[in-house]
This record gives sequence, structure tokens and C-alpha cells, in this order.
Amino acid sequence: SPVAVVCIGMAGSGKTTFMQRVISHLYTHPEPTSPQPAVSKTPSAPPYILNLDPAVHHVPFTPNIDIRDSVNYKEVMKQFNLGPNGGILTSLNLFSTKIDQVIGLLEKRTAPPAPAPQPEQSTVEFMTGQGKAPAQPQQPQQIKHILVDTPGQIEVFVWSASGEILLSSLASTFPTVIAYIIDTPRTTSTSTFMSNMLYACSILYKTKLPMILVFNKTDAQDAKFAKEWMTDFEAFQDALRQEEEGGSFGGEGFGGGSGYMGSLLNSMSLVLEEFYKHLSVVGVSAMTGEGMDEFFKSVQEKKGEFERDYKPELERRK
Ligand code: GDP
Ligand code: MG
Repeated sequence: SPVAVVCIGMAGSGKTTFMQRVISHLYTHPEPTSPQPAVSKTPSAPPYILNLDPAVHHVPFTPNIDIRDSVNYKEVMKQFNLGPNGGILTSLNLFSTKIDQVIGLLEKRTAPPAPAPQPEQSTVEFMTGQGKAPAQPQQPQQIKHILVDTPGQIEVFVWSASGEILLSSLASTFPTVIAYIIDTPRTTSTSTFMSNMLYACSILYKTKLPMILVFNKTDAQDAKFAKEWMTDFEAFQDALRQEEEGGSFGGEGFGGGSGYMGSLLNSMSLVLEEFYKHLSVVGVSAMTGEGMDEFFKSVQEKKGEFERDYKPELERRK
């Protein structure tokens, strides 16, 4: 069965650019898990793409389903007299009422191809993207990846009822993994790193889905420091101490293990250590394509984890 990858991250972390990279990678690279030799020029099956960002101006790829085709965000803002965030939220609410149709369409498109394939009648399908995906082969290949782009305002998707409906509908139909995209150059200070990790942790707790931490923009900033901080807490504490000496924090030692902040930090480190154990971590550059093979490997790993650990839990909660 296909795997659904939902890209979540702060505005500007590079979700859309990353989606574009994932898509182009699938078109140009042979299936990493297939038994074909690595030199094979056969591209992987094309992905099925969903855009859930109603406010995006330009999408550098052609979504198969685009929230903008069914909801006009500007109109919603005008009609309901809302600001940008309210507009996005209401658009998402309106769209989530159609989730059954969306899932139906996904199921149809991801089913194994019929013995005698009929020509696609994409024009009559509900909410189909305008353009055509590049170079469709004669025999439509079975879709292996469903890619979902989410609104720039992360909280609108993660903390809204409609976001939850969209995610849980997807996860009850397909193995679903979260790709949490991080702006690596903006995460080099210990405090932004810590807040970002805690945010990712809260998303893991909220969605209860397997998660891949994607440290993006490695062309601008190597993600080695982040991987080190996640595996070696001493290294993180050293970094804290250094920043403190640099004058970021006055007074009581922040990273010294003394005082309020020190003890809070030590407790948090235990929480984060447990959290880190459940994650895959990859460094990528959506710009250059660096690290994409590793990302796809993580997706397969997390797909297996979903089927093994998460699915039984989802069934139990039904
Ligand atoms: P989104 O709001 O999360 O969808 O982020 P975008 O995909 O729109 O990207 C935000 C900005 O980051 C854009 O200016 C991108 O060009 C830039 N960006 C995205 N990925 C990379 C990357 O891998 N390297 C660099 N240097 N910039 C990137
Ligand atoms: Mg975007």
C-alpha cells in the first residue's frame, strides 16, 4: 500500500520547496527499495500530491488535489469578515467537510491498476488539479507516495479540529508519517533548538503518528550539530554553557545544572531523550537534493513502524 507523508513545519522552514524536491526525486530516481539494479533508469512511481495551504500564492508543482480549487481563501476572509489566520482556519474547516470524497479519490488512485487500464477521465473527477503531471507512462504506475503540504501557519493545522479530522482520516486509510521540517540555519542557538524540539514533541503527542525530523537547508548550515545535540546531552550542555559565557543569559547559571533553569533543563533533557528515541533524523537540502535517499529510507522505516505499532493502537481507539 502507499505511504502518506505529511509535511509540517514553521512558516519558511521550506515545506513547499521540500515537497518539490521529493516529487522531482521520485521522477528522476529509481525506487530505492526495489530489487532493480541501482543503475536502472526506471523512475519511481509518481506521487499523489495534496496541497492543503489555502493561502499559498504559487505552488512550484501540480497538486492532484488542491484546497484552492474548492475554497477561495480571499472570499472566505471577505464573507466571514476574518483576518488571515481565521481565513485559513475556516477554509480548512470547509475543506474538511469533503474529506470523504478526498479519501475516496485517493483510494481509487492508489488501488492496484486494473488488468485492462481505461484512459484516465481526469476532467470529470472531483477537485482534480488543472495541469497534468509530466510524462505519464502508458500503463499508469501504482502510486506509492501520497504527499501532503500544509498551511504555513503550523498551529492552524496542528491544533484545529479540521486538521485533526484530515490527519486522522488519512491515517485510518493509509500508513501515515509526519515529516517535521526544520529551518536548520535558524536553529543553531540552544534556545531555538530546544523550543523547536519541544514543539515537535508536542506534535508527536498530538498526532500520535510516526515522525521524521527533517533538518532542511543543509546547503546553508550543516545539521551535524543538531544530530550531536540529540545523541549526546553533554554536548548540548556544553553548547549552553558556551552561549551563557557569550553573555546570552545573565545571573544564575542556565546550563550549569544549578538553579531553576539548570534543574528545569535537566528534567527536560530526560523528556527529550525519550522523545528522540522515537524519531528518525535526517539532514537534507531541498535546494540541492542532498540527503534525499536517506529521507526515503526513513519513510520506509516509519511506514513499517506505523503498521507494526501505530495501526493496532488506532484500531483499538476506534
Ligand atoms: P514553507 O513556508 O515552509 O512552505 O517554506 P518555502 O518552501 O516557501 O521556503 C521558504 C524559503 O526558504 C524560500 O525562500 C526557499 O527558497 C528557502 N529554502 C527552502 N529550502 C531551502 C534549502 O534547502 N536551502 C536553502 N538555502 N533555502 C531553502
Ligand atoms: Mg509553503
